[in-house]
Amino acid sequence: MKKSTESSGGREVHPPLGKLFIVSAPSGAGKSTLCLAARQRIPGLRYSISYTTRATRPGETDGVDYHFISEDDFRKGIEANRWAEWARVHGHYYGTAADIIDAERKDGNDILMDIDVQGALQLTRRYPDCVTIFILPPSVAVLEERLSGRGTEAKGELARRIRTAEWEMSQQHRYDYVIVNDRLEPALERLVAIIERHRSTGTRRGGRA
Ligand code: 5GP
Repeated sequence: MKKSTESSGGREVHPPLGKLFIVSAPSGAGKSTLCLAARQRIPGLRYSISYTTRATRPGETDGVDYHFISEDDFRKGIEANRWAEWARVHGHYYGTAADIIDAERKDGNDILMDIDVQGALQLTRRYPDCVTIFILPPSVAVLEERLSGRGTEAKGELARRIRTAEWEMSQQHRYDYVIVNDRLEPALERLVAIIERHRSTGTRRGGRA
């Protein structure tokens, strides 16, 4: 929903630009659960639905979890400069539509983004006022256990995700905040507190400082 633009003495007063909250984590760190729970706790926080060329997993809905598109359409998007950032993750393309992010920000809406490390680094250059948060699993052993327990990946894919996870964890120092997700509730409280602390005044609703 578009925020009203007040008029003051004939001049338009725009809401402050919405803030981007970028959350990255290796697969299996529990990022999706944390992001979903944070969205439920924080009123008015938007979520950026990414575009991807990977196949839909059971339980996922097009336009809700992702916009599932073809490789051809994704590449056309690259040529047309449609993506605010994009990356190839685990052999598939993932990207964020620039026009949607820019329109939401202009309307003063804060946005939560679940983005891999490569994309997060691109966004910090494009939107230097963004807030970046890295979610760590308690250990690589726990991560492997969570990934194999999920049962959505074949063996080769699992090994590939673990290698990527190790590289991603080596990049955590580039983030503003690091949260260790050993127990959901304390990790969620930290995530919510960080977001509330940095929200744009346009959308903030009595959050903790
Ligand atoms: P999954 O396929 O498991 O949903 O996501 C794989 C990885 O892609 C995750 O690390 C997720 O954060 C990342 N990802 C999801 N959407 C985007 C996006 O729009 N851009 C980038 N760069 N990564 C994304």
